[in-house]
Amino acid sequence: MGNELSSTLPEDWVTVDMVNRFTFCPRLFHLMYVEGRWEDNAFTLEGKAVHRRVDRIDQILPEAAAPEKETRDDEGDPPPVVARSVSLAHDELGFMGKLDLVSADPEGGEAVPVETKRGRVPNVPLRSYPPERAQLMAQGLLLRRHGYRCDHGYLYFAGSRTRVRVDFDETLERETLETIAAIRAARAVSIMPPPLEDSPKCWGCSLCGICLPDETRELREAAEASEAGGTDVGTDPRRLFPARDRATPFYIQEQGARVGKTGERLVVTKEREKIGESRLIETSQVVLFGNVQVSAQALHLCMEKGIPVVHFSTGAWFHGISHGTGIENAYSRAAQYAAAADPAFCARFIIPLIHAKVTNQRALLLRNGSGESRESACRALAAHLRTLDPSSSTISARAFQQNPAVSEIDFLRGWEGRAAALYFSAFPGMLKTGELPDFDFTARNRRPPKDPVNALLSFAYALLVKECLVALWAEGLDPWWGLYHRPRHGRPALAIDFMEPFRPILADSAVLTCINTGMVRPRDFITNSNGCAMQPAAKKAILRAWEQRLDQLHTHSEFGYRCSWRTILRIQARLLVRLLRGDIPHLPWPVVR
Ligand code: SF4
Repeated sequence: MGNELSSTLPEDWVTVDMVNRFTFCPRLFHLMYVEGRWEDNAFTLEGKAVHRRVDRIDQILPEAAAPEKETRDDEGDPPPVVARSVSLAHDELGFMGKLDLVSADPEGGEAVPVETKRGRVPNVPLRSYPPERAQLMAQGLLLRRHGYRCDHGYLYFAGSRTRVRVDFDETLERETLETIAAIRAARAVSIMPPPLEDSPKCWGCSLCGICLPDETRELREAAEASEAGGTDVGTDPRRLFPARDRATPFYIQEQGARVGKTGERLVVTKEREKIGESRLIETSQVVLFGNVQVSAQALHLCMEKGIPVVHFSTGAWFHGISHGTGIENAYSRAAQYAAAADPAFCARFIIPLIHAKVTNQRALLLRNGSGESRESACRALAAHLRTLDPSSSTISARAFQQNPAVSEIDFLRGWEGRAAALYFSAFPGMLKTGELPDFDFTARNRRPPKDPVNALLSFAYALLVKECLVALWAEGLDPWWGLYHRPRHGRPALAIDFMEPFRPILADSAVLTCINTGMVRPRDFITNSNGCAMQPAAKKAILRAWEQRLDQLHTHSEFGYRCSWRTILRIQARLLVRLLRGDIPHLPWPVVR
């Protein structure tokens, strides 16, 4: 026994905290202890704050008395020893935990655990919830196994400064021991338990944005209803997370600048002058263009906080990304590699993906295009879309049936290519440039782009790849191993797969905003026989348009709630993991109409 918690937890050991989480929700337990996921919300931060005082080790718990020793004398009870932050472990049970506070008889007879909770005493019959009682009972079990008498404990609710007594009866003891056994089994399973159904617990759960309980349920029920030949009439998913992110990317494109850290802030300086700063809590990524240095301290802090640092050349050529260890499990990557080797799975992934891309291309033309070219392209795209059923995992198009020599994937690439040709043929009709011939667009070209419109498009696609790469990496996927685009040196194939439906609605849309609202001018570009280069003003303009677009609220086409495009990208990356891991049967892609 001692007051130091072992820093490494053996694989089959169970902790007191796990008992609480598992009793609260087995899926939460899985996310935290099998997948290693965590996110704070207001409740968890409040919980940490109220624990700060009890996390301080002061008195050592007295040795437990021998069972036969009488610990009370005739002169009255001596004051109890109050020990905080007591770590106990028991080899036989394979069980350990850190107890907030233990009030013990100085002679080592009786010990009473006190667990601190945020908030007020709950207004329920037992004045406490099952996870809290199970957690306290687990502490009681540890104390008993260490020789103390322990038949009750207290929950201390900091919000109302009230202790609630919890008696350790036989039922609570049996249920807690069963929970410990269930946890040991659950730690060895890599399949995620189903989400709770329409539970009020999800509102307060800090992992609701990772778990996506209602979205998972909706997609499962829709698939079951469709298999049974009906349609799902369930309720719309609740949006359990904020519509917009508080943290946004921090872009630095000032050549010769240096990024350092001061406390919890990133500070950008040039020639000893401060030219910018960003609070870490408000920073989702650090994006560097060209010759910008980062101090080792700033880099380490970003890694520790899970903030990726993305490195681009001045011309937005993606060099790489610096990040911490991220998700420390390989389940999702293993599922990704297995899926990529399964042609049937790939078809199930690709068909809705490219169908959504072409739907979004057509929607953008309908919204912004003009003239006969728009009408004919939209008609042709509508007819083209009808040749591929997005809800099917097989290709029904007549052209494919008539040409058995072509593989499924090559047919789908050709199908997408024909749609792209139609879309870009009508693209000039969306540019409202008046008499500015510099913004004429004839065809898509790149490496290097030859005109301002292509330069803007290439820059916006680089930003989109970066956004997708960061989102996929954050979910533990390998952005370089695609299911549609073939892996090739230097190509983040999965990020390129993932970005397809978002190209028109995010990247192309930001470029149209830049040109059509006059955010860029011909003088912001230098064009010669080697290609077209963007001046800093043009880069600033497209970055602004891009960030505005990502921050815009949109009604999710599948789930019906409103959230920013940045949030939609993140949800989609999380749902892709669910698809790969078999948690959901299919993955619809966001579309605009
Ligand atoms: S959101 Fe709900 S279902 Fe998901 S882990 Fe949290 S409590 Fe469990």
